Amino acid sequence: MNIIVCIKQVPETTDVRINPETNTLIRDGVKSIINPFDMYAIEEAVRLKERFGGTVTVITMGPPQAESALREAISMGADEAILISDKAFAGGDTWATANTLSHAIQKIAKEKGSFDIILCGKQASDGDTAQVGPGIAAFLDLPQVTYVKKIEEIKNQKARVERMTEEGFDILETPLPCLFTVVKEINEPRLPSLKGMMRAKSAKIITWTAKDIGVDAQQVGLAGSRTTVVKIFHPPQRSGGQKLVGEPAEVVDKLVELLKSDIV
Ligand SMILES: Cc1cc2nc3c(=O)[nH]c(=O)nc-3n(C[C@H](O)[C@H](O)[C@H](O)COP(=O)(O)OP(=O)(O)OC[C@H]3O[C@@H](n4cnc5c(N)ncnc54)[C@H](O)[C@@H]3O)c2cc1C
Repeated sequence: MNIIVCIKQVPETTDVRINPETNTLIRDGVKSIINPFDMYAIEEAVRLKERFGGTVTVITMGPPQAESALREAISMGADEAILISDKAFAGGDTWATANTLSHAIQKIAKEKGSFDIILCGKQASDGDTAQVGPGIAAFLDLPQVTYVKKIEEIKNQKARVERMTEEGFDILETPLPCLFTVVKEINEPRLPSLKGMMRAKSAKIITWTAKDIGVDAQQVGLAGSRTTVVKIFHPPQRSGGQKLVGEPAEVVDKLVELLKSDIV
């Protein structure tokens, strides 16, 4: 079973700061980590490899320093790591990011012969859109299941999975190859072993540019983005409001009165 895991390096904080002039994330001075949801994707890939054999290839689109995220994934048990890095990728929206990653995956498939599963996190803790995984599946014309909380069975080139919903979960079956985005309920990521850390230190990280993956530079990064950040702002603080205190019946009457006066 050949598994590809897409990971993103993100700031180690949810307090993401934005440059008001460029509308881009301020990354300076902020420690970077692997997007927490992607840790579950890496762990699941390694568990699948342990169950079914095969290889785990981890990819990230990012600046050169994203290499450290790939080394961490190797220390957890990934076999190969590819950094997709080029100035042309900068400032990309989710469409451009998914386009870039899908080209890299096509190159991996060409070189390896095939892949069975692509794993992504549910969403990134900085961009937070949850669009990249589904976007990759759309570009590659693959079936996808989002919010996967358990991969129950893989048999006869089909996978049966549980997808988390607000009420519980759905059980879905899909043919392979396919793409899953995973939630944190799926597993408990392992700590890297000493052997893993040694391997990660000396592992060769492959770097691919836009030219290497055969993508049109006008279809990636800022140039290829279909969306534009027009304005970034904090939502206005809510004003104090009004507290209604008293017997329930009394409070309901007051509330109805207030609502009526608000409508009028
Ligand atoms: C309109 C718009 C404009 C933007 N402009 C800018 C900008 O100018 N500058 C800027 O820094 N950011 C910008 N962003 C953010 C940037 O586009 C996103 O960070 C990026 O496209 C990934 O989307 P996301 O963070 O929402 O990931 P999600 O879709 O939430 O991520 C889901 C999963 O996809 C995978 N994934 C996501 N990104 C990567 C990656 N790079 N490599 C490998 N796997 C990945 C991971 O598995 C991740 O868990 C913009 C976003 C939008 C919506």
